[in-house]
Amino acid sequence: MSRRYDWLIVGAGFTGATVAERLARGLDQRVLVIDRRDHVGGNAHDRRDESGRTVHPYGPHIFHTNSRRIFDHLGQFTEWRPYFHRVRGHVDGQLVPIPFNLDSMRMLFPAGMAERLSERLIAAFGFGARPTIADLRQAGEDADLKFLGDYVFDKVFAAYSRKQWGMEPEALDPSVTARVPVAVSRDDRYFTDRYQAMPRDGYAALFQRMLDHPNIHVSLNTDMAEVAPSRFDRMVYCGALDDYFGRVAGALPYRSLRFERQVVAAEAGLPVGTVNYPNEFDFTRVTDFRHLTGERGETTCLLTEYPIPHEPGRTEPFYPIPTEASQALADLYRAMARTLEGRVWFAGRLADYRYYNMDQAVGRGLSLVEKALAPAILKAAA
Ligand code: FAD
Repeated sequence: MSRRYDWLIVGAGFTGATVAERLARGLDQRVLVIDRRDHVGGNAHDRRDESGRTVHPYGPHIFHTNSRRIFDHLGQFTEWRPYFHRVRGHVDGQLVPIPFNLDSMRMLFPAGMAERLSERLIAAFGFGARPTIADLRQAGEDADLKFLGDYVFDKVFAAYSRKQWGMEPEALDPSVTARVPVAVSRDDRYFTDRYQAMPRDGYAALFQRMLDHPNIHVSLNTDMAEVAPSRFDRMVYCGALDDYFGRVAGALPYRSLRFERQVVAAEAGLPVGTVNYPNEFDFTRVTDFRHLTGERGETTCLLTEYPIPHEPGRTEPFYPIPTEASQALADLYRAMARTLEGRVWFAGRLADYRYYNMDQAVGRGLSLVEKALAPAILKAAA
């Protein structure tokens, strides 16, 4: 007879694996973790390709966080290799630092103009600040700052965004534009977080260690529909929110990606981890994995990302499309999800229908266990 579990965790990505580990190790619960894919790690999964190079088949995943707690929590399952991600943008024939910074201006504008704009930026925001292009475009009477905000919007953001989301930038939630920064410095690191590092042995090894516990059973190539409800008491669902309810109110919109992988001679690789192509071509960016992994050799692996529409069941749901209409539909499904609480909890980037970075997915998992699942276990035992 099939074994019975206290919990079914649907999805073995960062959210599900964090919840499973805490329930099993921290609260002595018996946990069945399933994933419909043939590997753990969700979208953060990595593996060796045929040339022996480590690649991230679902797109480049760079770990960064400001949370000491989350960094230390994951540090139980991996050693870290310090890594600062750097991005260049292909703008007017040059590879300039992204986020746009004082060096980007020096490369793209005549010397006198670059100097004047730099001085204006420093005077308005202070050296080292990271105002957004929305801050610059709303800089009142200041024609220089407004010019710079419009320039970065046009050359770096607008066309990239059209490709990324398949819609005009104005149709997106204003919070998306509001987040695009300009660095008032020469710092060309893409992220500003306190902790920036990659798991030394890769993500797959990290997940294996996280889920290696006698209370945890992992079943891959397994869909939620294949697990009889009689086999578990309660469930944490990390799959797509609309999927759970059979999309009765309509499909939540996502953007998907098509990837093209290429092994090239090391000297044909990129100068930094990622190069963005805001204006030309139908792809958005190319990543050179040797920068992310630290692996050296005669070849390197490049991954090119082509944004495509999402078709449920046929393509991966990668990015929730941030519009007012999608948020309203998600709210409707969230209300349906709340009626199940006590037996089913929804968590993670798909179940919450929110873009999470990996640290946020871990944080979501940790707080779900502490604030909801542990109290529910205590209540049931009382
Ligand atoms: P997921 O990783 O998506 O895991 C959910 C799992 O549930 C999946 O494996 C899926 O197969 C499974 N599942 C769904 N439905 C079912 C079902 N019915 N039955 C069984 N299994 C099911 N974050 C960063 O911090 N840094 C980055 O550089 C970064 N880069 C990214 C690049 C791309 C292209 C994308 C799309 C995301 C990136 N992210 C990055 C975000 C990161 O991928 C997420 O934070 C993380 O994967 C979220 O984990 P999760 O467990 O919530 O979801």
